[in-house]
Amino acid sequence: MAAADPESVGEVSEFTDQPIRCVDCHGEFVWTAGEQQFYRDKSLQNPPKRCKPCKKLKNARLAAIENAQATGQRRHIEVSAECASCSAVTTVPFFPSQGRPVYCRSCYIKQTDSAHNAAA
Ligand SMILES: [Zn+2]
Ligand SMILES: [Zn+2]
Repeated sequence: MAAADPESVGEVSEFTDQPIRCVDCHGEFVWTAGEQQFYRDKSLQNPPKRCKPCKKLKNARLAAIENAQATGQRRHIEVSAECASCSAVTTVPFFPSQGRPVYCRSCYIKQTDSAHNAAA
């Protein structure tokens, strides 16, 4: 009784886990045999380029852009600016105009808080 030839078994035993380098975070992730099977079942030609967290982020970005286009909103922007109060570099979702101070999140909250207190 001849034992199964390990090489031919290897050929039919489908897929093995494959390390892939993520194009976004350059970390290595495993394209599992199960996922490869799934790709083949779906007739997908190209292996994944991104690890799962990066893929999620990318999908979220795309969804945000689509959503913005659907609702006619401007695309979300991020502008680096220096906080007028604590000089921390922060990002704001608008282009700060000249002469108008920009505050980081915590200073902004403090500002609005003191404005409320002053008004009260
Ligand atoms: Zn990644
Ligand atoms: Zn600040």
